[in-house]
Amino acid sequence: MNYQVNDKGYYGRFGGAYVPEILHKCVDELQKRYLGILQSEDFRKEYHVLLRDYAGRPSPLYHAGRLGEKYGCRIYLKREDLNHTGSHKINNTVGQILVARSLGKRRIIAETGAGQHGVATATVCALMDMPCVVYMGRTDVERQRANVEKMRMLGAEVVAVESGNMTLKDATNEAIRDWCSHPSDTYYIIGSTVGPHPYPDMVARLQSIISEEIRYQLVEKEGRDYPDYLMACVGGGSNAAGTIYHYLDDERVRIVLAEAGGEGVKSGRSAATIQLGREGIIHGARTLVMQNEDGQIEEPYSISAGLDYPGIGPLHANLAKIKRAKVLAVNDDEALRAAFELTRLEGIIPALESAHAIGALSQMEFDKDDVVVLTLSGRGDKDMNTYLNGKN
Ligand SMILES: *Cc1c(COP(=O)(O)O)cnc(C)c1O
Repeated sequence: MNYQVNDKGYYGRFGGAYVPEILHKCVDELQKRYLGILQSEDFRKEYHVLLRDYAGRPSPLYHAGRLGEKYGCRIYLKREDLNHTGSHKINNTVGQILVARSLGKRRIIAETGAGQHGVATATVCALMDMPCVVYMGRTDVERQRANVEKMRMLGAEVVAVESGNMTLKDATNEAIRDWCSHPSDTYYIIGSTVGPHPYPDMVARLQSIISEEIRYQLVEKEGRDYPDYLMACVGGGSNAAGTIYHYLDDERVRIVLAEAGGEGVKSGRSAATIQLGREGIIHGARTLVMQNEDGQIEEPYSISAGLDYPGIGPLHANLAKIKRAKVLAVNDDEALRAAFELTRLEGIIPALESAHAIGALSQMEFDKDDVVVLTLSGRGDKDMNTYLNGKN
């Protein structure tokens, strides 16, 4: 079984590059050049120096003793919450801005939902002195004030998108429209393992630093380089892709993904794309999409803005389909409970997204010697209102 992307940009039936004619040249150039850039000596050096000295890597692999006691196994948390800007997203934006520079692009655009990817993009644009435009739905602009203010302080222009439901999907459409109008000088930094090929593969490679570190950190702690279980939350799938990347072919390692159940998978208010989605095209790729009978994209819902996406990366759609990964839906209330549990057991306030991965623990049955590595994708500062008021 090959779980990686093939040379046409597909993971099984999923993936590809479905873009408007005017973008063919840009996407084509990126497809032809991304591997050469990522594998070049210059890129690798600069990327690793920035990850180490700027983003703060390697992130610790922390043995969460009290949490493990509760679930009857050995749990390690991969601490992406300790990165600069508060999540795994910086791994990707640091890498992609170097790719943009190699391609000679001078202007950066991005889309953002909760604002985490927008902040990570605005951050690297400040670092590299490149102009940055971030598209964000008007609804999200209003409910994510702090991140909007950070982006503006970092020098980015934040465009509030007024179309559709004024959330992430609409921001994405607007970013693609911008890219179509400025294909020659603009680089589009996509924030997850979604979008047309080669983005899902490129983002997975840039996030694969997570599993590269897990391998040697586990040797130090457990005397073996693989866990029995890897667990992560999935929105578009980038922190999960990074967590599993070097273990995809290792069948000793079981992969468990947590998607957002919202108010319940069958409630009509959910973002459980793998369970509810049907094949379709979104954001330039064939994947599972939450859509109605007519193929209109349905508005997803989750208490967590970062998991509130009606699609899923093609890598994960394929892993779920061929049963390499087990996918659990974790509802809002379960994620909230898990966030408080982690806080009280370990003194770590997780991002709401990451709390979905913690919430999946109670749906599992472990042996006491099982080694579980769970990626804590981000920290909870941005979610304090939700934690304290029960809403955002
Ligand atoms: C954006 C985000 C996610 C979801 O994105 P993925 O691409 O699925 O990783 C998860 N956790 C945090 C903290 C995020 O900011």
